[in-house]
Amino acid sequence: MNIDGCTRTCGLIGNPVEHTMSPAIHNTLAEAMGQKLVYVPFHVQEGRLKEAVEGAYALNLLGCNVTVPYKSRVIPYLRELDPLAERIGAVNTLVRTEGGFKGYNTDMPGLLRALESDGVATAGEKVLILGAGGVARAVAVMLSERAEELILLNRTVEKAQTIAEEVNARAGRRLARAMPAEGWSKLPKGETYLAVQATNVGMFPNTEEALIQEADFYERIHTGYELIFNPAKTRFMELTEAAGGRAYNGLKMLLYQGIIAYELWTGRTVTGELEELACSEMKRAMHIGEEA
Ligand code: NAP
Repeated sequence: MNIDGCTRTCGLIGNPVEHTMSPAIHNTLAEAMGQKLVYVPFHVQEGRLKEAVEGAYALNLLGCNVTVPYKSRVIPYLRELDPLAERIGAVNTLVRTEGGFKGYNTDMPGLLRALESDGVATAGEKVLILGAGGVARAVAVMLSERAEELILLNRTVEKAQTIAEEVNARAGRRLARAMPAEGWSKLPKGETYLAVQATNVGMFPNTEEALIQEADFYERIHTGYELIFNPAKTRFMELTEAAGGRAYNGLKMLLYQGIIAYELWTGRTVTGELEELACSEMKRAMHIGEEA
């Protein structure tokens, strides 16, 4: 990469950031599109987020991604918030504007683009969301505008209940409901669902785990959409496929949240060929990361 006086910087703010795949996506795109842009991770210590955001702006950064644990905590330091990010309550992308950064959420548009790319319909669907953490909440908010029914299954049912109430209050109807994960057998018999797996269960190195292990549960899933990307095939996906369903992992979501951020920073559209290039570089970086 030829860095000169006109090269712009984008970065990732998080704690930790050492395992990020985002540099592989953005630096590959910048190089392939001939843009003077470099993307670097910034490990921001606890208690230094405000300084980091102000410093990034002062240093003329074009934009940033924001990751755990700062996706909600960054909001007070932004000049403006995109309406979707506001509804979700989490920001993963900062875009430089006059006088400060504007916050966006590209995780959910990224997931939508991934679902579409995999041919998974969400409009009018009955959806199970496994989990009730930050991402599950964002998925519920996003799908509340499309799905016919949302059921949140979580180990801690109270957290699922809170999300369901929030979604219903916004929708003005009983669109969402909560169930304890172990209560899955109370799901109506004969019904099949799109299931979005939004817990940490099954992530490397705990690859034999799934939130629900019983094979009967998977008879009720026509499509299992896993948000974990390491391992590439989780236990949840194996169980879904063993019961005859289609299963996908979270790699495309990761790719598309990055591509959408890149498009916001540069105003350029990333085409199919470049998508594939960024995807293969991301996979390569992951492989190296696993071996290290
Ligand atoms: P989070 O806020 O920490 O929520 C974690 C969720 O997992 C909660 O529902 C939690 O249940 C559940 N959980 C954790 N350990 C469990 C266990 N041992 N048994 C049962 N349930 C357990 O995490 P998050 O930020 O929402 O992230 C969730 C997932 O999304 C992660 O796997 C992450 O890799 C994935 N993700 C993917 C992408 C992508 O681009 N593909 C982007 C962001 C996140 P309780 O409420 O009971 O604690």
